[in-house]
Amino acid sequence: MTREKDRERLVDVLSRSNRIHRESVLDAVGAVPRHEFVPESHVQQAYHDRPLPIGHGQTISAPHMVAIMTDRLALSPEDRVLEIGTGCGYHAAVVAELVDTTVSSVEYVPDLAESAQQQLDRLGYDVRVKAGDGRDGWPEHAPYDAAYLTCATPELPGPVVEQIVPGGRIVAPVGKARQQLVIAQKEADGSLTRTTDGYVQFVPMRG
Ligand code: SAH
Repeated sequence: MTREKDRERLVDVLSRSNRIHRESVLDAVGAVPRHEFVPESHVQQAYHDRPLPIGHGQTISAPHMVAIMTDRLALSPEDRVLEIGTGCGYHAAVVAELVDTTVSSVEYVPDLAESAQQQLDRLGYDVRVKAGDGRDGWPEHAPYDAAYLTCATPELPGPVVEQIVPGGRIVAPVGKARQQLVIAQKEADGSLTRTTDGYVQFVPMRG
């Protein structure tokens, strides 16, 4: 079962929301089999636009949130991308649809890191996953052109900011109970120019 019709319907919903500006992002969402990333118990809801549990008290974000964050990263095929918070690997797969490079992703829970890597490999997505604390970024593969966090942080982690090239972008939920989606651009002098894109609700960063 490829669930293509379900995906088409989801893409249609996202498209009509007018919140996704890049056609390429809608195409990526239309290409990734989300049902392969959610637990067996929730496969029937895989193409509903809502978050779903993935075990270990964590959730896979709703498709519209994955699409909005990916859209705001403004990716080009040659971009090197860092993800903090692999979860089940779905968001990384969407990003992998858009770039020709290997996506680097750090996940705090070792079990999730391992199962996400297995699933991404099985589906042929060029993503490397490491178990660790995303606060440190992943210096071995730096620098990156873009980075995003899928867990909420009180402030953008310094090492992640450092590992971004000038001109690069970071998208992250910033705040504690009340979080805003922050879109930051690193300037030539290393400073960040920030804009926000509404209130969001993500699991807090651990560690
Ligand atoms: N993008 C994911 C969503 C994952 S939810 C997906 O598509 O499924 C957020 C994830 O961030 C969780 O898996 C959680 O374990 C992870 N996380 C929390 N704190 C972290 C940290 N300090 N470093 C790396 N990952 C972290």
